[in-house]
Amino acid sequence: MKKQFKAESKRLMDLMIHSIYTNKEIFLREIISNASDAIDKLHYKSLTDDNIKIKKEEFAITIDIDKNARTLTISDNGIGMTKEELETNLGTIAKSGSFDFKNDNEKKEDIDIIGQFGVGFYSAFMVASEVKVISKAYGSDEAYTWESSGVDGYSITACEKENIGTDIILTIKNDDEEYNTYLEEYEIQRLVKKYSDYITYPIRMEVTKSRPKKDKEGEYEEYREEEILNSLVPIWKRNKNDITEEEYNTFYSDKFFDYETPIAHIHTKAEGTLEYNSLLYIPSHASYDYYSKDYEKGLQLYSNGVLIMEKCADLIPDYFSFVKGVVDSPDLSLNISREMLQQNRVLKTIAGNIEKHIKTELTTMLKEKFDDYKKFWDAFGLQIKMGVYNDYGMNKDKLQDLLLFYSSKEKKLITLEDYIERNKKEKNIYYACGNTISQIETLPQVEAVIEKGKEVLYCTDYVDEFVLKTLMKYQEKDFKNVCSDQLDLESDDEKEELKKLNDKSKKLLEFMKETINVKDVKFTNTLKNHPVCLRNAGEISIEMEKVMNAMPNGGDVNAEKILEINASHPIAKKVQALYKTDKEKLKDLCKVLYAQARLIEGLSIDNPTEITNLVCDYLAK
Ligand code: ADP
Repeated sequence: MKKQFKAESKRLMDLMIHSIYTNKEIFLREIISNASDAIDKLHYKSLTDDNIKIKKEEFAITIDIDKNARTLTISDNGIGMTKEELETNLGTIAKSGSFDFKNDNEKKEDIDIIGQFGVGFYSAFMVASEVKVISKAYGSDEAYTWESSGVDGYSITACEKENIGTDIILTIKNDDEEYNTYLEEYEIQRLVKKYSDYITYPIRMEVTKSRPKKDKEGEYEEYREEEILNSLVPIWKRNKNDITEEEYNTFYSDKFFDYETPIAHIHTKAEGTLEYNSLLYIPSHASYDYYSKDYEKGLQLYSNGVLIMEKCADLIPDYFSFVKGVVDSPDLSLNISREMLQQNRVLKTIAGNIEKHIKTELTTMLKEKFDDYKKFWDAFGLQIKMGVYNDYGMNKDKLQDLLLFYSSKEKKLITLEDYIERNKKEKNIYYACGNTISQIETLPQVEAVIEKGKEVLYCTDYVDEFVLKTLMKYQEKDFKNVCSDQLDLESDDEKEELKKLNDKSKKLLEFMKETINVKDVKFTNTLKNHPVCLRNAGEISIEMEKVMNAMPNGGDVNAEKILEINASHPIAKKVQALYKTDKEKLKDLCKVLYAQARLIEGLSIDNPTEITNLVCDYLAK
């Protein structure tokens, strides 16, 4: 009986069958990598299950070409699939979440999908008119055949198969000559070398060779011989100088299902007291689940080429959790359990080294390839910042030099070191917070500080200020929020003048303070043309109030606010005049000024209707 594919699988399959993708040859890589995964799984099981009789050397992938039948068969002696697994694994797309079929009509989309995600098993339909999967699962006595010739569905029937494992039989398409090449030995040899050379199990195929005839000089005879097509040495064990950039990238996309070229790879061979090879990658973008709790960090852990753990979390710290890669060490025992692994001294040492490798790579990138670093920062800067801030700042010293902030002077991202370098005489590092660079740039407080010739770092991420508070100091310099009341940038004369003015208006300011319920109201002479602004007293800044109150369990955090009025703005005179003539009107004006100062900061106002009415009344006059 024919079963129908799930809707999404059907559309993907349709795309495959009618694919105009020029890189159809990747189907072989996909099938071989599935086979290798299946062998990994059985091999892993065999470490603890004595019933699995197969020896390590016997694990293999076998390819067979039958030109007459137009079939290409890829067999493995891996874990196999049960009837249910055939149904769920091959009847639906596992990674359906990654696919987004928006533009049905656009031919480009298949290229995008194949290019970006790889499409696994279904890619077989780019070159095959019919696909048969014969499988016998570990722990099962029965074998089943899954069969499909396209979108109209698939069938699963019982069959005979002696050994555990899977045969994938592709009937190569016949409707265009381009497909004939997949029935040629040399082409299959080439494809294995190109895409699957690093596979750690032998990929065997019988190939035709020729040799001189024994008795007839000058004549040759053909004979068949099984050959191992891949070099078997995993890429991480090979010599750096012999590996091309393309090989590094292909390995990455194959292994980690990311079809965007990584920003960097770090290939290390350690010899001596502790032996290991590691090949680490820094992705060029954050995966869709990276910043969610579903994301699982970890490196693949091998013991002498044999996978012992898919995601070993203990190998990388949280703040570098974006790093992908493999670690292989003969100093780790194959049979080690997960619990023991955590305590393992070898593993701890490797983890410590890996952290250093990553830090060094990032530091070098920052200094020598800033464009790459910028890309890295866009994707994972938030993670680095959280690394500074998490665990009570325990790791801040390690990470602080990796931080970037937007500079008011340079109009680009700079490091804290850059800041210090340029502002040697400065006691403080000035910063300002807001939603966007352009919003921060127009804050009255920021303009005032820039006017004084200071460089200001603009913080647009919600964690930024927490990061700076965690750092407390950088190279002996304090971080100062330009919106705090602790700036102290005025000269003694200016201070004196201001003090006089505020003392003279004490009663007026007191009256205003009570009207709007803030910590203080003051006249200021630092605001250039702007009429009002808010400053915070205390440790909690206005930005922190916003961030903390926006959190799911955020309570009722209140920064202590000071309303400052520009002493040289006409509004200051108005305020003073109204205090003498019409206190009720002054109250209204005061509310409007406070509301405006809050709006500038991006804070909401409690009484928008009242404020809007008041403003309209003023405008109508
Ligand atoms: P992916 O490999 O990305 O999960 P595929 O579409 O290539 O997606 O394969 C779907 C699933 O089918 C695999 O995850 C695996 O569970 C199963 N599978 C595919 N090929 C084999 C095989 N040769 N042996 C055992 N299981 C396989």
